[in-house]
Amino acid sequence: MICPSCGAPEMEHDTRDVAYTCKGGTTAFVGIEGFYCSKCGESVHGAKIGEKLSHMAVAFNKRGPLPDDFNALTRLISQDDGRAARAHLAAGSPIYYREARTPPGVCVKEFPDGHRELVRFDMESGKETVVSTVTDT
Ligand SMILES: [Zn+2]
Repeated sequence: MICPSCGAPEMEHDTRDVAYTCKGGTTAFVGIEGFYCSKCGESVHGAKIGEKLSHMAVAFNKRGPLPDDFNALTRLISQDDGRAARAHLAAGSPIYYREARTPPGVCVKEFPDGHRELVRFDMESGKETVVSTVTDT
């Protein structure tokens, strides 16, 4: 797949340890499957991994609210080739992703019935809040 960050044509599918940096510290998330850009270091993960990362990031961020890092986090809740997302929907679970037009700091939550909402994750509690319903499908 094409790197969404720098446009490099090849991203490598791999399982790696991902360094997560925020104000005052860095932690490593071990064994994260996804697509990695060798040119700029961007990584893209499926919805399931995105959720896992968001939970780990929330745990790490318990030390304090870190709003500046929110876009980096929601960027991780991102698209893969669509297989993982479809499997998730087929299993009756909602998926999370971002689109080019998705406002900063939020992500799209899509339900198996096609209903979509914009949600935001509270970085301290990990709770998601519905910002609005997406109607322009
Ligand atoms: Zn790149």
